[in-house]
Amino acid sequence: MFDEDEGFVLLGPGIREHRHWPKRRPFTRGEALTDLMLEGCLVTSQAALGDRWRWARSKVRKFLSSIDTHGEARVSTEGGATRIEAVPMDEWPERAWLLPRRRRSSDTLTPKERERRKLTNGLRYKILRRDGFRCVLCGATAEDDKLAVDHIIPVARDGKTTPDNLRTLCKRCNSGKGTKLDTETGC
Ligand SMILES: [Zn+2]
Repeated sequence: MFDEDEGFVLLGPGIREHRHWPKRRPFTRGEALTDLMLEGCLVTSQAALGDRWRWARSKVRKFLSSIDTHGEARVSTEGGATRIEAVPMDEWPERAWLLPRRRRSSDTLTPKERERRKLTNGLRYKILRRDGFRCVLCGATAEDDKLAVDHIIPVARDGKTTPDNLRTLCKRCNSGKGTKLDTETGC
């Protein structure tokens, strides 16, 4: 699968002076990984990496955990310091390359997922227009609250994505916090 990626290129720390290396914007994950590989071995703290990559601490923590799990680096903590040892790319295990699960194509969708997907932007707009761009329960407009198109009988209870089963609701009514005029949905 990766045969075409055999061979090496010269990539040194000087890349950090390149005009496209992040100066003010947050690093992408790929840039952060490249940064670690350029270091080889680094003893630092998650806070320092957060400053360096302009990331929140939680993102640094998740990223370090991910590259450790996938075998791109060995991450350990030593008395409050974080030690990161990059693993050379040709030693990365197969799991480093596993791609995120693809969106399932429509032929593998469950009937309910397929039903939900019938609510296209075009149909959504048709319903909004039919309902006069107002919440059918409280009359709120898009200026008052966010409007959404709702299944009267939920898809989970075999409701269909057809105009007679769709209506415009404001966010408040949709979440059930608004006027409880609605008895037919049982929510
Ligand atoms: Zn409403």
